[in-house]
Amino acid sequence: MVVLPALALAAGMFLVPLPALCTGGAAVHALEQIQAQHIRSHAPDDPSGFVALADAIPDCIEDIRYYSGYNFVGERIDGYEEPRALLTREAAEALRKVADDLRGRGFLLKIYDAYRPQAAVDHFVRWAKDPDDQRMKEDFYPETDKGKLFRSGYIASRSGHSRGSTVDITIVDASSGNDVDMGGTFDWFGTRSHADCTEGLTKEQIKNRALLRDAMIRHGFRGISTEWWHFTLKNEPYPKTYFTFPVRALR
Ligand SMILES: [Zn+2]
Repeated sequence: MVVLPALALAAGMFLVPLPALCTGGAAVHALEQIQAQHIRSHAPDDPSGFVALADAIPDCIEDIRYYSGYNFVGERIDGYEEPRALLTREAAEALRKVADDLRGRGFLLKIYDAYRPQAAVDHFVRWAKDPDDQRMKEDFYPETDKGKLFRSGYIASRSGHSRGSTVDITIVDASSGNDVDMGGTFDWFGTRSHADCTEGLTKEQIKNRALLRDAMIRHGFRGISTEWWHFTLKNEPYPKTYFTFPVRALR
């Protein structure tokens, strides 16, 4: 039996990719996909495989925190020239199915981050190495020592977001416009953000996290254990490319 190493898929906002394996007939299919990926591999500064999420899902709410100053760093992050959610065509198409699914249940999608240029990740690393800058500690990491963020894997020199098929996402009640209560907030560094955290969460909050997670998984995404809001398209089209073009309107 042929066994091929599948391309690394898991990569959190802060975590490095983990390898996985696939076998048999799936391996042949995977080989074809890998070859196709080589043929269509893009230069890191080429956004031609990307779309604006606003075009794919017009009612998706965008709250692009790294364009705003309200994030764990406390200022606009390098590489975010406009507040936009960009994704690979394949990830946007899968997310459109999630939106259709959840809209039928009374919810809209809300995106905090999608494609993230390498310059932004570099900005996070610079911030993590500066122990004096703790201006956003109270809102994002009150229980975590900033000096341990890098060592603990919260911050890494590469992010799956830079491959263009990862989103940070929550859901909003379509009738009230209110965020659904997930029992925690985006980019909170701590165990309360773990996808399977139950301590201190109500049954309703646990159910709400499962509602989002199950919908994402149904349509081809997978989550990570440390962040309830973070999902990557399993069959991402550019699993080895860390893109560098800035976040702004695609031209
Ligand atoms: Zn993320």
